[in-house]
Amino acid sequence: MINKLDKIIFELTQKELIRQQDGLEMIASENYTSENVLKLMGSILTNKYSEGYPGKRYYGGNEYIDQIENIAKNYAKKIFGVTHINVQPYSGSPANQAVYFALCQPGDKVMGMNLLFGGHLTHGWKVNFSGKFYESIQYTTDKDGFLDYDAIESMVKTEKPKLIFVGATAYSRIIDFEKLAQIAHSENAFLVADIAHIAGLVAAGVHPSPVGHADVITTTTHKTLRGPRGAMILCSGDESNPTKKVDDAIGWSESKHNIPSLIDRAVFPGLQGGPHNHTTAGIAQALYEVQSDEFVEYAKQIIKNAQTLANEFMNSGLKVITGGTDNHLILIDVTPFDITGSQAEHALELAGITVNKNAVPFDTRSPFDPSGIRIGTPALTTRGMKENEMILISEMIVRILKNHNNAEIIEKVKNEVKELCDKFPIYKDIIY
Ligand SMILES: *Cc1c(COP(=O)(O)O)cnc(C)c1O
Repeated sequence: MINKLDKIIFELTQKELIRQQDGLEMIASENYTSENVLKLMGSILTNKYSEGYPGKRYYGGNEYIDQIENIAKNYAKKIFGVTHINVQPYSGSPANQAVYFALCQPGDKVMGMNLLFGGHLTHGWKVNFSGKFYESIQYTTDKDGFLDYDAIESMVKTEKPKLIFVGATAYSRIIDFEKLAQIAHSENAFLVADIAHIAGLVAAGVHPSPVGHADVITTTTHKTLRGPRGAMILCSGDESNPTKKVDDAIGWSESKHNIPSLIDRAVFPGLQGGPHNHTTAGIAQALYEVQSDEFVEYAKQIIKNAQTLANEFMNSGLKVITGGTDNHLILIDVTPFDITGSQAEHALELAGITVNKNAVPFDTRSPFDPSGIRIGTPALTTRGMKENEMILISEMIVRILKNHNNAEIIEKVKNEVKELCDKFPIYKDIIY
């Protein structure tokens, strides 16, 4: 059995590679990680158990794993300018879970952005653990789709949550972490900045960093950061020095509780067992790539591409929420074209353009068939596409939205999509 391959799985993976190559990947949370990251993800590192942290493992044989994990951590510290980092969370949601587990008790009041306004499930959505184990209250955007800092401030003042999550999955504007930290800290709440979407932009210095403002920062590593599917938790603070604020919040009076060690203990042994060492190595490689000049150019181009798309869509009569973008994504209300978000997602998929349906602020339609779609540029920018390609693509998208029931037009656009994709190959050596 051991060397036999399950043909069907390999065939399906091959088909998925072709789908990724031949289509326009415009889901804002996706990207193409590098061939070197892929190699490490498929490496023998997956064989090893290493519960614990470098130098403090519960298994032998971790000489090299320790070095890999330390290199990943050191790169992240350097890139983001923090003093403490945990690279072991299995993904973004478990990373957020670890933050609640570290800083809150069940039933504590927590606050986050409503999912339907661009927040994440783990920011207190009712069916998620964050809305079930904690008393969650949720803020929205203003009617134009901008964060409403005054409304957030008054909610914090009256509700006095213990912990506040900021950061989003469908928000196209700069987030003022400094202001949010002032608001949170004025009521002694912890501020957690979840930069899962914008981490690559923050790393490249093209979006303001929450470092120095937020108490804890969580991020995925597979979105704009362009690494493997994984996550990190970043914070600063003296690991040997007890922090009174933390002790008070946690309700422990005696001793040595500080944010970095609470986070580490929440990840392991609080929530997880052995870290995914192949992912840790992939994160290290991705962070190595992030430190290059090319990555800074890449991050700038992501934004230029998104802004080009936003302008083209607005010129064609679509409603771009907030009237533009400062980052890698745009949220469009497609209903002016007499089409719903699901219909748009479906018609675009038939033409080889992958986006996702998304609620728009104060959407009057149901979350299952909302008014909008979310479109992102990180993956296309990785392929090397620039403003000229964005103009072509926006024109194709508009044509589909206006003719979503016309199979002939969809077929024609599909061919144009394939032709464009052929000029921007994603991988050279990877065959599956
Ligand atoms: C993607 C995302 C997450 C969750 O990441 P997973 O890896 O899908 O669990 C958490 N928060 C935000 C803001 C995200 O965009």
